[in-house]
Amino acid sequence: MKIQAVAFAFALSAVLQPVLGRRRFPTVDGLAEAGHGHGRNLHEGEVSCDSPSDCVDYHGCTTDCRCVRNTCKMKMRDCKTRGGNKYKWPCLEGQECQGERFPWGESKWGTCAPVAYTCYKGDIFYFDHSPYPKEKACEEKYPVTDSFDLTQTKPNTDCIRASHIEASRFTKDGFLKIDNDSGMVVGVFETDEGCGFTKDYSGKLITPGFIDCHNHWPQIDMIASFGGDLIQWLQTYTFKAEARNIVPSYARASAKRFFNILARSGTTSTLALSVIFKDAIDEFFQEANRRNVRVISGLNAMSDCGDFEYPVMIDKNLDGNLVSAPLCNALDFEDTNGTMSAAKFLEDSEELIAKYYNKPGQRAEYAIMPRFLLSSTPAMMEACKALRVKYPEMKFHTHMSENLGTSVYSVFEFSVEAKAYYGENGIKPDEDFLNLLKSKKTKFEIWDAYGLVDEYSTWGHSIHMTESDLKLSQDTGAKHCHCPTSNLFLGSGLFDMKTHIEMDIEVGMGSDVGAGTSYEMLRVMGDMYKVAMTEGSEAASIPPGTKGEFNDWFMRNLTEIADGYDNFGEIYPGYKITGTGDSHTTIPYKRVYKPYPLSQIYLVTLATANVMGIGDKVGSFKTGMEADFVVTDMDFSPIYNWNKKVTDESLTEELTIEGANEFENFKKYVDSDLSHVNNLTDYLLLEKKLFPLIVLSNDRTTFATYNMGKQVYDRGLHYDLSLDDEYVFP
Ligand SMILES: [Zn+2]
Repeated sequence: MKIQAVAFAFALSAVLQPVLGRRRFPTVDGLAEAGHGHGRNLHEGEVSCDSPSDCVDYHGCTTDCRCVRNTCKMKMRDCKTRGGNKYKWPCLEGQECQGERFPWGESKWGTCAPVAYTCYKGDIFYFDHSPYPKEKACEEKYPVTDSFDLTQTKPNTDCIRASHIEASRFTKDGFLKIDNDSGMVVGVFETDEGCGFTKDYSGKLITPGFIDCHNHWPQIDMIASFGGDLIQWLQTYTFKAEARNIVPSYARASAKRFFNILARSGTTSTLALSVIFKDAIDEFFQEANRRNVRVISGLNAMSDCGDFEYPVMIDKNLDGNLVSAPLCNALDFEDTNGTMSAAKFLEDSEELIAKYYNKPGQRAEYAIMPRFLLSSTPAMMEACKALRVKYPEMKFHTHMSENLGTSVYSVFEFSVEAKAYYGENGIKPDEDFLNLLKSKKTKFEIWDAYGLVDEYSTWGHSIHMTESDLKLSQDTGAKHCHCPTSNLFLGSGLFDMKTHIEMDIEVGMGSDVGAGTSYEMLRVMGDMYKVAMTEGSEAASIPPGTKGEFNDWFMRNLTEIADGYDNFGEIYPGYKITGTGDSHTTIPYKRVYKPYPLSQIYLVTLATANVMGIGDKVGSFKTGMEADFVVTDMDFSPIYNWNKKVTDESLTEELTIEGANEFENFKKYVDSDLSHVNNLTDYLLLEKKLFPLIVLSNDRTTFATYNMGKQVYDRGLHYDLSLDDEYVFP
């Protein structure tokens, strides 16, 4: 408004010039030239001219000078300051007065240039480090055994709240300062000192951009496809959608749509699974680099397509004529043991690695990404291992134990393939390896036999993990990506968040679109909450503690359960029935994990960045981090506003009193003195607001999205545009 008002004043003064006569100051570029005749007195430093060629040496400006009213001018707009910053002849938004080329008296003239630092004003929240070690300690120190006893849960709740407040940083009405040259975060401040320009998002929440550790960019075509579990769904919809990307131009258009919807969703970094076609991934990476997005992707290695109904028929030339498309990397239907696919995967990978791995200045990053064990023959496993050996720090990602049936079947099928491949007619590695392979009983263990379970590996879904699988994660530093929306949609199962926290296994969040039904990570967090509340209850298909060894568990424990009910002793971990079977018998306690509201933001920012191995670059607002951030706002939502209205007044008063009383109390639960907390009430209010924001979030929640300080989405400008449009700024 301020700038518009000044612009109006300029326009008005321009109109009045002929009437009022000569202006007191040289006219700003682009304004009316009225009132200035040839031969007027030049100020010191000014150069007279009759044409632009007279101005070539003007203040180092060799090409962009203009001759305005017989005075040389820079092409960029001039500006004026007087008495320091007290008065400014303003520059356009995002520019500041630099150079001060014509000083006289108190007034100085300069040139408008892009500001060195831009600040974003709003309620700024981010995590400095993980709250989970403390949360775990809280659970151990103050275990809750009866969720109905509020006096008993208070120390636990206070301790967990304090641990999250200690790990996070909240500045109400703060300034997020960005170095425009580098696109890096300078820091979060309480004043706008040193901000060349401030963009005002007052009242809105500014957090690091959301991060999504598991989705499929080509599956944007088949989101919301009805029915079927994992395999039915892959066969019916997925493979067809992915096969279309054999046409590079289709892949480029698909990548554009994908990055547009990420920007609309406030997602700034992602690990995106891909397709088997090298050219399609090349298009994807080019588009990622054009937009300067931090992404991890790679060839979707597949060498065993015998389990799927193929060939898939696609409209390759988009002319209505269906042609068959193979699913495996070698694009050869005769490649029965996957040897050709593995060789092609290696060859194509090396070509993409040369372009997109460890390239300075490039945020796109190639990774080893086989689809899953079911589509991997021993030859492909060897190929993945070869890449791991050659590039020891290259990231690795695949699906893990998403669906119980395929988990069991994959292990069985792989053992048959291994026998054929390494056996009499196959390739024989050393005997030790064969013995090692034979000893592996789960999918996770088979990947481990090939040296692929390590700190650089991340695993999508990881629902039906055995206890030994979880122990292997704990020992190796392997990380997991929780995809609640997709798991609910395909009925795959419920992820056990609590056990991962207890075992210090790192977990990030994934949308898994197209099985996921939304790219918006806040909505994914809404589902994460529901899964956490349900997992461990009797509605869970697999009792906690059994971790997917379901068949074994069933056979082994059936009798014990019957005995358990007879004896009313402990039946399975977390559930305890006591009493004698009469009215004194108590209801089993539900081993429910309630994700604390603030931790939901941790999970979709720094936690997921850490899982993807990019936590030193994005996911927080610490100095020197890449300035990927999102501004969220739900003020458009009638239900959100009503909810806020009815709770706000009483809540504010209540939490102000609570904040004053609780501060000393909270300190006793944490190691630090909470010196970063200026006002505990701010955190308590944020906690109360954040939860409805997550639960009620929809596709309008994202107000603005920035990649390395550059805006890529604006709700006001772009919400109504299609996914194929360019999201430009005037
Ligand atoms: Zn997936």
